[in-house]
Amino acid sequence: MDKALATADGPVGPNARGYFGEYGGMFVPETLMPAIHELTAAFEAARHDPEFKREFDYLLKYYVGRPSPVYFAERLTQHLGGAQVWFKRDELNHTGAHKINNCIGQILLARRMGKKRIIAETGAGQHGVASATVAARFGLTCTVYMGALDVERQAPNVFRMKLLGAEVRPVEAGSRSLKDALNDALRDWAATSDDSYYMVGTAAGPHPYPLLVREFQSVIGTEARAQMLAETGRLPDLLVAAIGGGSNAIGLFHPFLDTDVAMTGVEAAGEGLDKRHAASLTRGRMGILHGSKSYVLQDGDGQIIEAHSISAGLDYPGVGPEHAALKDSGRVKYIPVGDDAAMDAFKLLAKLEGIIPALEPAHALAHVIDIAPKMKKDQIILMNLCGRGDKDVFTVARHLGVTL
Ligand SMILES: *Cc1c(COP(=O)(O)O)cnc(C)c1O
Repeated sequence: MDKALATADGPVGPNARGYFGEYGGMFVPETLMPAIHELTAAFEAARHDPEFKREFDYLLKYYVGRPSPVYFAERLTQHLGGAQVWFKRDELNHTGAHKINNCIGQILLARRMGKKRIIAETGAGQHGVASATVAARFGLTCTVYMGALDVERQAPNVFRMKLLGAEVRPVEAGSRSLKDALNDALRDWAATSDDSYYMVGTAAGPHPYPLLVREFQSVIGTEARAQMLAETGRLPDLLVAAIGGGSNAIGLFHPFLDTDVAMTGVEAAGEGLDKRHAASLTRGRMGILHGSKSYVLQDGDGQIIEAHSISAGLDYPGVGPEHAALKDSGRVKYIPVGDDAAMDAFKLLAKLEGIIPALEPAHALAHVIDIAPKMKKDQIILMNLCGRGDKDVFTVARHLGVTL
């Protein structure tokens, strides 16, 4: 790691040009640079404004339901016979996952900038729903770009977005999936940035998005650090979180980077690393996607390969640049977990703890199930249970061959 690149923001950055080591930056058309500069200035002012923080904290408490508790999974721990397993219960948030934390921060930023309209893109629809939720709460209009194929596959979330008053625009270009929706959202923003705010849903995109999403999601790790100290008298030995673009993971990890707590990010190995998967950090190469440089799934010609995972929230063909830098520095370990192991973990948690997790954190849980028995009984694992499984019961039923 190049020490000179480190800033007060964190051990790997970003620097003033938005680089975490070699990753990140602003790879957008010249026409978008004024909008990027306006956003950067607004965020820098907001993050030092006590009134902004007061309102952010207020909404997280009374609208989202924070703080989410940390919970000792006693029966799972007994079953695994090794390290104590604790969960950060972010699945208890309003709308059922961590995405709302970021959307609250960004809608306050949009309002502060005087914007009247929200642009978002979504793959599975989870970020689209969270964006439509906060747009409704603040009375802004909301346009969500979604690949036409995803619109067909994710009908319940499309309906939710419409109920919340958003317009869903199906994208017919290319593979009609997330990467095509990303392009159209950026194109819309380039044409409308005077009155529109682009709400990015993960710790990726051009600078300053990876930074601001991390800052808003860091509420997860900041709460967890204080809660674990209060409950157990010390910090955990290991943090585990699932990685799509990397927002819930960086939100948990970042407030612990100044400690010696070990961290593992779990990405989706889908059907296997030699078949269809979403393991950008394990199998990707440096490339440019969504306005920044990071590990990207691409073929020999540099074309983006569509990601696959049984969990729709993990099938993003890139990963946030801070994770790329943390991987190269060795500070965080990243491992792939496939569909079948995630499904087994999903079923085990339902039976042992009475918690139906989303399929995304079920990937993280599969790693916990693997590693906890190899650790000592006085060691502590804290996993981010970043979403609830209500949205996934149809997928799971199909996987199990059950007709509902
Ligand atoms: C969207 C989503 C993810 C993946 O996104 P990150 O930015 O990597 O956190 C993970 N879990 C759940 C429940 C999600 O909805």
